[in-house]
Amino acid sequence: MTATGADGRLPATMRAVRFDSVTGDLSLQEVPVRAPDVDEVVVKIAACGICNSDLDRIDGRVTPVLPVFTPGHEAAGVVVAVGERVSLWAPGDRVVLAAGRECGHCAECRVGGGPDDCADPHLMAVHCDGAWAEYVTTSATALVGVPDSIPLEQATVLSGSVSTPYGAIDTARLRPAEAVGVWGLGALGTHLVQLARICGASPIIALDPRPVARERALGRGADVALDPANRQVTSYIKEITKGRGLDVAFDLVGCPSTFGQAREVLRKRGRLVMVSASPDTQEVGRELPLARNDQIVVGHTGYRVTHLEGVVELMERGRLDIDGSISAILPLEQVIEGVRRMREHDDAPIRVLLRP
Ligand SMILES: [Zn+2]
Ligand SMILES: [Zn+2]
Repeated sequence: MTATGADGRLPATMRAVRFDSVTGDLSLQEVPVRAPDVDEVVVKIAACGICNSDLDRIDGRVTPVLPVFTPGHEAAGVVVAVGERVSLWAPGDRVVLAAGRECGHCAECRVGGGPDDCADPHLMAVHCDGAWAEYVTTSATALVGVPDSIPLEQATVLSGSVSTPYGAIDTARLRPAEAVGVWGLGALGTHLVQLARICGASPIIALDPRPVARERALGRGADVALDPANRQVTSYIKEITKGRGLDVAFDLVGCPSTFGQAREVLRKRGRLVMVSASPDTQEVGRELPLARNDQIVVGHTGYRVTHLEGVVELMERGRLDIDGSISAILPLEQVIEGVRRMREHDDAPIRVLLRP
């Protein structure tokens, strides 16, 4: 339990947003800063996003694992202290945090698996405290370095809302010139459109009922943006793809209507990727036509540390521009206003960040 502190000034306490799942209260409190274990680091948080999965727990759609905890899992900052066995990181390093860390005792971890192979990864803001706080103590393996050219605020957006769609593209084995459809243009879908463009997908068809989200997708590389509520939508997609249909359909909504629509326009040997779908999204009876056409349905949740490295690389080389992805940066004290803006979709925000 030794910490080689940055300057020996790791404070005893810090400000953190605490969510009490019994009372439903979200409040700023003074809590202890946990000293790093031998293979852990302490990161001073520069900013942390407010994600829909935070809102799922705060609004009671998902039962939290911990009764009282600090939310927030899309964070970046600067290393201020490292455990005695940590050699990869040193105080002063700029880093983005992966939400998952290895459990340390599953079969994969016992053979040195690390967070990308762990069978039971522990998630920030689910199994342990998150980053709506001044400091986070986490595993040294859960960090990716951020070059000086990338602002830390933008790095927070790479964690989760860019790395998850990047991982979904990996799952889909997307190739150049493949026709892609993206259902749902929130943070993940909007970034998926950008990344599909980088990968050479063509055409890219973006679908969302909100005109502002469709307009944004056109600005980020979609060839066509459609309202899925339009009765003609499937025949439009057939027409745009010259009658072939889609090679890859990404469903980021996960309800029977989007799944059904995506399946209907999937070409022979097409792949349908359900991103972060909940288990109840598949209806019985959909499988038969999928099998007949050699089509593949796969699920995709979250991202691996290697995906986070990939999007940092794309951004550093100027391939990926997420300038417009931060809708607002609020001080930690205004957490309730930030949660309200994300919950009520004020101007369809991509990310609202909290700054300690
Ligand atoms: Zn998230
Ligand atoms: Zn494990």
